[in-house]
Amino acid sequence: MAKKKTIAQEVDAAAVLLQKLVRLKAADENGYCQCVTCGVSKHWKESQGGHFISRRYTATKILEENIHPQCYGCNGPKAKDGTVTIAYTLFMQDTYGREFVDELQRIKHIPKKYTRDEIADIKKEYRDQIKILEGGFAFGEFMEGM
Ligand SMILES: [Zn+2]
Repeated sequence: MAKKKTIAQEVDAAAVLLQKLVRLKAADENGYCQCVTCGVSKHWKESQGGHFISRRYTATKILEENIHPQCYGCNGPKAKDGTVTIAYTLFMQDTYGREFVDELQRIKHIPKKYTRDEIADIKKEYRDQIKILEGGFAFGEFMEGM
């Protein structure tokens, strides 16, 4: 029998699902979404769900407003470059307002505990939404191929 995942591992799995969901939600009818920090347009499958507040903070790890499409560069190698952080901060302030961004910075330090049931519900909710959105794209591609 497979070893039961720890709750931390379950939260990680939920974050991976949410990172996929935000890209699907942001994608246009052709499946493309824009990197929020450099503006490059990439297919959702080739972009990433980048956290504004680092993933290492559980409090904001599976908060939808904390995750947005980013290109591999901005979410990876360039992430240590201060300009990416500045661009993401400006995007967050323009989208949600300064107060919300300050609030995220404040709540990231507050320990957040989930129960197994809570995480299971959250994962199910994300999976259901992903299924619907992915289904829409699959249908669009099917129509194009006809
Ligand atoms: Zn980028």
